[in-house]
Amino acid sequence: MTAVATETAAVTPVLAFDVEVAAVRALSPSFRRVTFAGEGLRQFGVGGPTLDLRIKVVIPATDDGGATVPLPEFGVPGGVSGARELTGGWYQHWLSLDERTRGSMRTYTVRELRGGDRPELDVDFVMHFDADGNGGPASVWASAAVPGDRVTIIGPNLEAATCPTAKAYGGIEWRPGLASHVLLAGDETAVPAIAAILEAMPADMSGHAILEVPAATDFQPLVHPAGVQVSWLARGTRPHGELLDAAVRTAVAVPAAGLTPERGTEPEDVDIDQVILWETTTGSTRPFYAWIAGEAAVIRELRRYLVRDVGIDRKQVAFMGYWRRGKAEL
Ligand SMILES: Cc1cc2nc3c(=O)[nH]c(=O)nc-3n(C[C@H](O)[C@H](O)[C@H](O)COP(=O)(O)OP(=O)(O)OC[C@H]3O[C@@H](n4cnc5c(N)ncnc54)[C@H](O)[C@@H]3O)c2cc1C
Repeated sequence: MTAVATETAAVTPVLAFDVEVAAVRALSPSFRRVTFAGEGLRQFGVGGPTLDLRIKVVIPATDDGGATVPLPEFGVPGGVSGARELTGGWYQHWLSLDERTRGSMRTYTVRELRGGDRPELDVDFVMHFDADGNGGPASVWASAAVPGDRVTIIGPNLEAATCPTAKAYGGIEWRPGLASHVLLAGDETAVPAIAAILEAMPADMSGHAILEVPAATDFQPLVHPAGVQVSWLARGTRPHGELLDAAVRTAVAVPAAGLTPERGTEPEDVDIDQVILWETTTGSTRPFYAWIAGEAAVIRELRRYLVRDVGIDRKQVAFMGYWRRGKAEL
């Protein structure tokens, strides 16, 4: 008998979606929700709740006269209109494009994905501007976005999520594993992720969510299990992260289930000005799990406290530097 080799086309896990702004809504002084729509989004998804799913948003460049430069179409047209396939090395390829036209790529969280015939995806952009009113390309773009504006979103291929042989997109770090008691802590950039995680949480989960935002007017109503206490902290004129740091120390100082006796182990230093602080786990094997994201220096201090002083097992916690003060995301 002759063996017949069958060749199946690999399903690429990453797609570039051409989307346009369908709506913009100011949630509060510091948050602007941009709703994106596009036919290609039918192919967007992870086959379940998006939790803290990260995506890339490619913001168009502007020319010397301030006019928007159309984004280059990188990637290979796929089976679905409005979505292009990105194969290995796509980021290097994007970097090799003309800097004046390729736009700026930034990382954001899917706040909500609504499927169906006219799929929509919400992203909550933090409005951050310095004392002179300057912001980064993404915050500047979102502050002025209007329906009809176009960006490219790089995100997960729904087909890959259900194909056992496809590579994973990744992009979700919320992995509580066996834990039933959790701590979520973050600054304003982590609010969309924490909000989406809380909404999808099992009703019997308990714990604490601590969110530091610029002002009390940025507090949002959140859907969460009754056993999870939600604490909003208004920063005001205090240094970024001061309140968050103190609140986490208070929350984890109480005896918590699942702490290991590894107190005193100094975590290896991470040069947060050179590399991204990103330490996650494949899933907690203990009753307690913590997810902490925000400005890198703040997260680094919390990592020291939880790992060295409290003795938390690193398999129980995700530490993520979502941005670094004074450094633009490349
Ligand atoms: C996984 C992940 C998910 C994220 N999800 C979200 C999200 O849903 N919503 C969101 O708003 N952000 C989110 N962020 C953070 C966002 O990617 C950064 O804030 C990004 O730098 C914004 O791009 P920009 O073009 O506005 O500013 P950049 O050009 O990157 O930076 C310009 C300057 O602004 C400073 N800066 C950047 N962000 C802030 C900030 N928030 N406050 C004060 N100063 C800042 C930088 O230090 C730099 O000096 C996420 C980051 C990661 C890694």
